[in-house]
Amino acid sequence: MKFKKSEKLYKKGLKNLVGAVNSPVRAFSSVGGNPLFIKKAKGTKITDVDDNEYVDLVLSYGPMILGHRHKKVQKAVEKALENGYSFGASTENEIKLAKIVCDAFPEMDKVRFVNSGTEAVLSGIRLARAYTGKDKIIKFSGCYHGHQDALLVAAGSGLATLSLPGSKGVPEGAVKNTLIAEYNNLESVKKHFETHNDIAGVIIEPVGGNMGVVIPQNNFLVELKAYLESKGALLIVDEVMTGFRSKFGGAQELLGVTADITCLGKVIGGGFPVGAYGARNEIMENVAPLGGMYQAGTLSGNPIAMAGGIATLTELKKQNPYDQFEETGSILEVILLETAKKYNVDITVNRFGSMLNPFFTKTKVTNFEEAQTSDTEKFAVFFWEMIKNGVFLPPSQFEAWFLSSALKDKDIKKVAKAIEAGMLAVSKM
Ligand SMILES: *Cc1c(COP(=O)(O)O)cnc(C)c1O
Repeated sequence: MKFKKSEKLYKKGLKNLVGAVNSPVRAFSSVGGNPLFIKKAKGTKITDVDDNEYVDLVLSYGPMILGHRHKKVQKAVEKALENGYSFGASTENEIKLAKIVCDAFPEMDKVRFVNSGTEAVLSGIRLARAYTGKDKIIKFSGCYHGHQDALLVAAGSGLATLSLPGSKGVPEGAVKNTLIAEYNNLESVKKHFETHNDIAGVIIEPVGGNMGVVIPQNNFLVELKAYLESKGALLIVDEVMTGFRSKFGGAQELLGVTADITCLGKVIGGGFPVGAYGARNEIMENVAPLGGMYQAGTLSGNPIAMAGGIATLTELKKQNPYDQFEETGSILEVILLETAKKYNVDITVNRFGSMLNPFFTKTKVTNFEEAQTSDTEKFAVFFWEMIKNGVFLPPSQFEAWFLSSALKDKDIKKVAKAIEAGMLAVSKM
């Protein structure tokens, strides 16, 4: 397999782009080598500029849940393009997408569209503060909520991959209202409430997806919600990764918990930049123009992005692929475990529906600390074997792999073969 053109573009890209990437998760810092440059994608496959073709388990870090360039999405977007790209005024499609989203999340009466997951969460946090009149927010170590200052501490994959504890350039003042708790540990949340009386709410990934996949244990979210209600604090559920992916109504639907404020991104735009935050009327009425919390966006509700989102979610609802995800996911999980066993490689596999990944560790992984016991050098070797055998994975031990509803048996076979090669290579280290 040759990567000549990718190498050439990488070198060229270094001149005017930072690290030749526009998001550090795309750099190959922790696996070595150069990032791949992509030419195109269709269905389950992605092709790099050297014409190497891979089964894509990155799926743009989640959004491409139907596979790439689904016919109906492509058509809807092409049609939208004919009417113009951006108007700075409302369109009917914004109402349509809002209805689809509010119908999916039962306690959501109103939604506001933004352009990214980061924006969705930073607005959701502002809203929690506006509504409660309190300043402090609790976040969990290892959860990532986008790159806003206040939450860029103990923030999972991107930072962990680069071995950064937090980010430079974030002033102390920006994080002074951020409290850190441990995932799956309600006591660590309660402790903060014992020492602070100005906590607006808790933000959580309902399923950890940015420290590798970490699953909430023993009704953690339900207990957390009940506790927060008793304290008059809000539960802000960051479903940017899990929304429409775990279930159409997000991880909340599966876990039997309802957020006070829900943040969305990724799948909601089907590959176009869309984020959203929503809540019941009483909370959303605080947002301008109805209330005093300001939040705006020149391109928010962009007509092309709305068309992509509506087509994606409509098709997703019709396909209802969640049983299929469960089945395909468990097949992959078993393949990973059995192959690792065959080659005497220690791994732990965490999976939640169509999100999964192996951790190269013996330890059970239920929080960020345990995730960090993984052997990232083993992951790097495994990663490159997967690439060479035609499977595109996120270049980090601490990212989830994603499945699309387009995956076929022959794709799974290709992935299984690559896993065999990967585990063999790791066993020889
Ligand atoms: C990806 C992600 C974000 C950030 O979304 P962007 O669109 O990258 O800004 C926030 N929260 C979670 C849980 C995510 O997975």
